[in-house]
Amino acid sequence: MFHNVRIPKENILNIAGDVTAEGKYSSSMKEVKERFSAALGSLSTGRIMITGISMTNLKLALAIAIRFSAARRQFGPTEDEEIPVLEYQTQQWRLLPYLAAAYALDYFSKSLFENFIEFFAGVLTKQRNQRQADFGREIHALSAASKPLTSWTAQQAAQECREACGGHGYLAMNRLGEIRNDNDPNCTYEGDNNVLLQQTSNYLMSWMNCIRDKAPFESPLGTINFLQDYHHILGWKFTAISVEDCMDSSVPLVAYKWLVCYLLQESDLKMNKEKQAGRSDFEAKNNCQVYYCRSLAIAFIEQAALQRYHDYTHDPSVPAALQPVLRNLSALYGLWSLSKHLAVLYQGGYASGEQPGKFIQDAILELCYRLKDDAVALVDVFAPSDFILNSPIGKASGELYKNMWGEILQGNKALNRASWWEEFCINKPVIGRLRSRL
Ligand SMILES: Cc1cc2nc3c(=O)[nH]c(=O)nc-3n(C[C@H](O)[C@H](O)[C@H](O)COP(=O)(O)OP(=O)(O)OC[C@H]3O[C@@H](n4cnc5c(N)ncnc54)[C@H](O)[C@@H]3O)c2cc1C
Repeated sequence: MFHNVRIPKENILNIAGDVTAEGKYSSSMKEVKERFSAALGSLSTGRIMITGISMTNLKLALAIAIRFSAARRQFGPTEDEEIPVLEYQTQQWRLLPYLAAAYALDYFSKSLFENFIEFFAGVLTKQRNQRQADFGREIHALSAASKPLTSWTAQQAAQECREACGGHGYLAMNRLGEIRNDNDPNCTYEGDNNVLLQQTSNYLMSWMNCIRDKAPFESPLGTINFLQDYHHILGWKFTAISVEDCMDSSVPLVAYKWLVCYLLQESDLKMNKEKQAGRSDFEAKNNCQVYYCRSLAIAFIEQAALQRYHDYTHDPSVPAALQPVLRNLSALYGLWSLSKHLAVLYQGGYASGEQPGKFIQDAILELCYRLKDDAVALVDVFAPSDFILNSPIGKASGELYKNMWGEILQGNKALNRASWWEEFCINKPVIGRLRSRL
């Protein structure tokens, strides 16, 4: 549509470059890398916003499912006593890790937003230094993986929350279907999640030369600084000796540092192997995604989010009364996320024998148990008002059936007779009346 259409020069979007009256391109940023990072900065905006939107969806779905689970009674130890479904271990294990994820990832999402504002203030005030350029690359790498992590977490949580509400999860008025539908495109727009993760792994792989040369390096936000100890970290092993030992997020955090270094090593080896086999850069990169670069980017961003939430929950400024529950959330998020990488922890020799796997599983279940009595209070913290949540089974009062009945009665024409009532009940057609017309 724009072929051969002239657009006046005054309409140019020229924050990072310009065109002279003679048609020559110019930019105050001399370095190509610097211009590239300024351009990437704009793309990060949408991804950081989507990270926040996904968190909102996650919190809405959890508020509904956890309040429902605390009020809905089904079966029980005796004939005449039914217990809330949240008392079942399965229900706790299905929902509470997502509650922990909501706390950890929401903190990450908000802190990343603050980082972005700082970066963008630099763009607007036209800061032109190496730090600003490095800052742009780091923000880009983080936002390109935070969107996949949070949108997929919300997607899986919305489905789990829906099923966790049994049949009521499918009633349109309870909104879980709508929340799930609303969240789905977060996985696709502003860059398909799988494609975006390549941006993050490219960034991580770009540090391999420094790692190999043992040259010092760091990033403005410090998210890759631990890679300086790459060679040392690769020698680490799982050391916890009991379930209780695993109940702090420092345990999964240490394991994640190893996991990122290991996946970086494996991705680098695989890439070199592909190239040695005569594959082009394009082919080699495509063949290094599944089980390598893709896993690397996911492990890196989970580790980065956990690091921030771990630091926050272990900060002495957090009120002492809140520390136990927040630390339990941090440990649960860390262990539950890490448990999805158990095969790689064993494959790379970080874990061996049956104990590490069992300790992690038992610690997850114990943390779910310890958190279940606080679960309603924890969703009350972030749930919007009933009017905004707009879900009868998700109302703060927990009066499921009264709330649903009230909603049904308020439905348009809910108390009217059906339009076909008269014809069906009063003026019933006489049998055989239409025979002559057939
Ligand atoms: C609801 C909605 C609203 C949108 N709104 C806007 C808007 O307002 N403005 C706008 O400009 N755009 C908008 N989009 C477009 C959106 O940004 C793109 O759809 C999205 O970036 C994915 O690009 P694509 O559709 O070209 O997918 P494709 O690139 O065609 O991807 C198709 C599939 O191929 C895979 N694939 C592609 N490349 C690779 C690769 N290199 N390696 C491995 N796999 C690969 C992807 O993972 C994906 O599964 C919107 C999309 C949706 C769904």
